[in-house]
Amino acid sequence: MATTQIAIDGPAGAGKSTIAKLVAELFKYTYIDTGAMYRAITLKAMRLNVELNDEDAFDFLNQTSFDYENGVLFMDSVDVSRLIRSREVSNNVSLVSSHQRVREILVERQRAIAHHKNVVMDGRDIGYNVLPNADFKFFLTANVATRAKRRFLENAQNGIHIPLEDLKNEIIARDDFDSNRTITPLKPAEDAIVIDTSDMKIEDVVKTIESIVRGENNHENESSARR
Ligand code: C5P
Repeated sequence: MATTQIAIDGPAGAGKSTIAKLVAELFKYTYIDTGAMYRAITLKAMRLNVELNDEDAFDFLNQTSFDYENGVLFMDSVDVSRLIRSREVSNNVSLVSSHQRVREILVERQRAIAHHKNVVMDGRDIGYNVLPNADFKFFLTANVATRAKRRFLENAQNGIHIPLEDLKNEIIARDDFDSNRTITPLKPAEDAIVIDTSDMKIEDVVKTIESIVRGENNHENESSARR
């Protein structure tokens, strides 16, 4: 049976997970949040008190299980969806996800989860590395002020209070680290469709993606990554 894979990449706070979740619901596809996996192993490494700089300290990954149920990540059979959103995890995850060994293991798991399934997968390297043959590839961007504001509101809803200016600086630092790491950095696939969501409502971004996936190409706001 033919399956459809939709890859959604982009920097922190560009709206990837909110939009990917809605697109997955719309098409009844499985939603896979790969950032949640990197966050979960960061949480586990912090709990185990391992040296986050030391790639060899991540052998525990081979004994770590990941399952998604309705888009929620369970690590070692425990729902970690709230804990992985903490500020400490956010500020350490880029370092952890820059290790080659960590990426190799997680990318293999991500491909296995997506195998023979209709999926919407979001992350940083999905379109050009994890699912290079994805049927649709999107790269969502937004200016940093907008992204920081979105994160601020999302945090507030989850009872996390970080000043807007701090959030902005933390987002800039994380994107910088993610874009400049040597192994599979944050970047659009050459054939990705880039959508600047700065001045768009969530539902309009979802509609734009929907119309492209359904083959109705009468949309604005997006450009090709090749240009
Ligand atoms: O998507 P989210 O902001 O939760 O991702 C957290 C971090 O996980 C990113 O800043 C990045 O360091 C890492 N990540 C990655 N590759 C992915 C997804 C996330 O390196 N495919």
